Amino acid sequence: MIVSVHDRADVKRVTQALAAHGQWVARVEETPGAQLLVLAAHGAAVDAARLREIPGVAAVSTPTSSHPLLDAAGPAVAVGALRIGGATPVLMAGPCAVESEARIHALAAALSTRGVAVLRGGAHKPRTSPYSFRGHGEIALGWLRDAADAHGMKVVTEVLSEADVDAVAAKADLLQVGSRNMAAFALLRAVGRARMPVLLKRGAAATIDEWLLAAEHLLAAGATGVALCERGIRGFDPETRNLLDLSAVALLANVHRLPVIVDPSHATGRRDLVVPLARAALACGAAGVMVEVHDDPAVALSDGPQAIAPDDVALIGGCS
Ligand code: PEP
Ligand code: MN
Repeated sequence: MIVSVHDRADVKRVTQALAAHGQWVARVEETPGAQLLVLAAHGAAVDAARLREIPGVAAVSTPTSSHPLLDAAGPAVAVGALRIGGATPVLMAGPCAVESEARIHALAAALSTRGVAVLRGGAHKPRTSPYSFRGHGEIALGWLRDAADAHGMKVVTEVLSEADVDAVAAKADLLQVGSRNMAAFALLRAVGRARMPVLLKRGAAATIDEWLLAAEHLLAAGATGVALCERGIRGFDPETRNLLDLSAVALLANVHRLPVIVDPSHATGRRDLVVPLARAALACGAAGVMVEVHDDPAVALSDGPQAIAPDDVALIGGCS
């Protein structure tokens, strides 16, 4: 339940009066001309009309959605001056992992001339095997930031653990929560507290509702916006790494009116399908695409088979 109070009301007294009705204030939000007291969902059952009688209370509303903040956030997310979900689809591209300073600079140079607005690259990599390359860590965040700055691009990179939030937030413009961590609620809260925009990847077996509730966790903790990222869900056929759920993209983009980025690289695991599915994603309403790129996929330290060449990025079309 959300209680809005008059701008001159004594919030402390209103809070006490709410407590007398068995209602706890979970959060206070400032809005122009008023304050909103967001009540904890586990308060005692109470008639909203009785709360409206408390002096200082202007209105009481009972959102029916389980993700009211996400609903209110609307179809666009601001990443500085860049809008995800604005008139022009956004192209995000870069290597799976930031492998070396020289390589990320060369890739940034190539991608910036092919319409890429956001440079991606992992410094902290989630790997299924503990023996696979897990990223160069903090030093790679600096290489990524410098490479993006040199070519006027934004940075998106993954936050793998709560311990890394501050270091990643210091270098990134958009914080990525990976598929394996979509339901890691303590991490979501810590990422939200950085008060930045977030790219939230869909868990490999997450329903749309679970995904939206994870986004609500981020917003409830303070994230300034959430772009959803469809990266394929677990299918039964090993021909592709995952199954790209374009129905979810069309539903979220056109019915829920939320910003969705599509990652055809992790969805398919095969470079020959990346460009066609990136185009299909834009055709069904995606706010942009994120693709993995490598200048020499044969020597890539991770995900080489799904990396396309920098030149191929230009084939996607339809992005700024
Ligand atoms: C990534 O984008 O670097 C990544 C690891 O993807 P996902 O979380 O979708 O597997
Ligand atoms: Mn990858």
